[in-house]
Amino acid sequence: MRRWSEVAERVSATTRTSVKTHLLAEYLRTLDVEQLPVAAVFFAGRPFAEVDGRTTGLGWAAISGAVGALADLPPDALGDAYDRTSDLGLAVADVLEQAAEVRRSAGLPEPEVTPPTLADVATAYAEIETVAGSQAKAQRFSTLLGRCDPATACYVVKILTGELRIGLGEGLLEAALAETFERPIAAVKRAGMLTGDLGRTAVLAREDRLSSAEIALFHPLKFMLASPAENADEIIGRLGPTAWVEDKYDGIRAQLHRAGREVRLFSRDLHDITGQFPEVVAGARELAWTGILDGEILAYKDGTVMPFVALQKRLGRKSPSAAIRAEVPVVYVAFDLLALAGPATDGSEPLAEALLDRPLSERRRRLEALELPLADAGGSFALSHLVSVGSAAELEGAFEQARLRRNEGLMVKDPSSAYSPGRRGLGWLKMKKALATLDCVVVGVELGHGKRHGVLSDYTFAVRDEASDRLVTIGKAYTGLTDAEIAEMTAWFEAHTLARFGRYRTVEPTVVVEVAFDVIVRSSRHNSGFSLRFPRIARLRPDKDVAEIDTTASVEAVWSGLQHGPEQLVTAGHQRALGEAARG
Ligand code: AMP
Repeated sequence: MRRWSEVAERVSATTRTSVKTHLLAEYLRTLDVEQLPVAAVFFAGRPFAEVDGRTTGLGWAAISGAVGALADLPPDALGDAYDRTSDLGLAVADVLEQAAEVRRSAGLPEPEVTPPTLADVATAYAEIETVAGSQAKAQRFSTLLGRCDPATACYVVKILTGELRIGLGEGLLEAALAETFERPIAAVKRAGMLTGDLGRTAVLAREDRLSSAEIALFHPLKFMLASPAENADEIIGRLGPTAWVEDKYDGIRAQLHRAGREVRLFSRDLHDITGQFPEVVAGARELAWTGILDGEILAYKDGTVMPFVALQKRLGRKSPSAAIRAEVPVVYVAFDLLALAGPATDGSEPLAEALLDRPLSERRRRLEALELPLADAGGSFALSHLVSVGSAAELEGAFEQARLRRNEGLMVKDPSSAYSPGRRGLGWLKMKKALATLDCVVVGVELGHGKRHGVLSDYTFAVRDEASDRLVTIGKAYTGLTDAEIAEMTAWFEAHTLARFGRYRTVEPTVVVEVAFDVIVRSSRHNSGFSLRFPRIARLRPDKDVAEIDTTASVEAVWSGLQHGPEQLVTAGHQRALGEAARG
C-alpha cells in the first residue's frame, strides 16, 4: 500500500496528463492479477468497485475518534488540521505526523508494525463494511491505521471517504489501463461501462479479454445523465432537425432488472431499492422477458402524477406499510431498454444482450414491443410521454404541455444516440427553465432560533471550485425543510460534526441539498465569490453524491443567464401554464 501511495503522490504532483498515465502504467504493469484490481479500484477513489453496492458506513466521527485515540493529541487537533487543509486524508496525515514528532522528541521508540499490503487494506475495508455498529467499525479502522505511516494513512483515508483528489478522473485511469496493457482505449471504456468496475476491467485488459465484458443482470449499470439546456434554439441546433422530447418526470430514477421471477430495482447511486416499491416488483414479476429497463418511479394516483413531496413520504423506508402504499401508490415510467435476452440457441437461459450501442430509436421500439402492463389499465407501468419536434417553437409548445401535465420540464434526446452509462453527454439535454436551483453540499450547520431552538436548522452550503478542487461556500438557508426532516438531519449532523465554534459547527460535507433562490449576485461574503438572494432548501437530495454538486462554473453560467433578465428563464407562456396547472 505504501508503494501505491507513493505512486498516487507522484500522480498528484504533476498536472501533465501524459505523465500521470505513464506513471500509472509503469506501476500497474508490475502488479499480479490479485493486486491489479484492488489498485485500480483504489485509483478510482473508492474502497469498493462502483457497481458493488457496499459502503463502509464509517463516518467522519468514527474516523476522527480513531485518529484521536491513536495520536493521543488534544481533541481538536484533527479539526484544526482539517481547517488548514480542507482534506480529511491530509489532515489525518498531519495529525499522525505531529504525534510521531511528539514521540520522537520524548525519545520514545517508533512502534513496531507491519505495513499493510494492498490486499490487507482491501480486506480491512471489507471487514469495516461487514461488522455492525460504529464502535466495531472504528475499531477495525483504527487497527488498519495503526499499521500505516502518515503518508499511507493519508491515502487509506482518502479512498475510504471517496475523496482521492489527485487529479485523476476515470477517463485518465482508463487511458492508463489502455497504455499498461497496450489495448485500444475504446475497448477499455466499453468494458468499464458494462462492468461498472475498473478492477474487473483492468483484469480483462491484462488478459486481453476486454471484448468478453458482458452486461451483468442484477449488477446496476451507471445511469446516463443529461446536460442542462435552457434555450430552445440552442437545443434544436444541437439535436435537430428532429429531436425527441420526453416529459421530465420528478420522481426517483430507477433501473429495473428482471430474469425469471427475480426483479431488482437500483437507484441512481446504484443502491438496491427493491424493497421500497413492492407494487413495481410484483408487476414486473409477472412479465415474460429478461432484461434491464431505465425509468423513473413516480407517485401516481387516479390517473394523475402526484408531486414529489408525496413520493418523499415513501423514501428512506425499507418497506412501505399498506397504509402508505394506499396513500401514495407508485408507477414505473419506463423510458429506455438497456438489455434484452437474445434468442437462446441451445435451450439454456438466454443471456441478456446489451443494447447500449444501438440508437435510441431502436431501443424505444423494442421497449414499446414489450407491451408493459400500463397503469391506466391496472398495471404498474407507464411509458414516458414522447413526441418528436422539428423547431424551437414546437419545443416551447411541448414544454408548456409537459408543465400542464405537472411535470418538471423536458428531456430532449437525440433518437440516434447511444446510451452512455455514467456520462453527462450531449445526447440528452434537460430543459427545466423554471428558476434554476443549485445542488450544493452542506458544510456547516447552526442552531436555529424561535421554534427551531435546539435543532440544527441553519445550513451553510458550498459548491465545488473545479480549479482548486475545493468546496467553496455560496450561501446559508434556514427554510424549506419540514420539522421532521430537520429533526432527522439534526441527529445526523450531531454524529458527523467535525469542529464546533459556539453555535456553529463544521460538518462532514456529504449531505447534498437542492437550493432554490431568487437571484445570484457577485459578492465577497462567501468564498465562492457569489451569494444567493432568498435562498431556501428545495429538498434534500440523498440520491446525489457530493461529486455531483454544482461547480463555480455552473454558478457562473446561471449568474450570466440571469443577467439577461428573467424573461429568458421564465416565459410568459410558461407562467401561464404553471398558473393553469396550479388552478386545475
Ligand atoms: P436532474 O436531477 O435535474 O440532474 O435531472 C436528471 C434526472 O432527470 C435523471 O436522473 C432522471 O431521474 C430524470 N428524468 C426524468 N424524466 C426523464 C426522462 N424522460 N428521461 C431521462 N431522465 C429523466
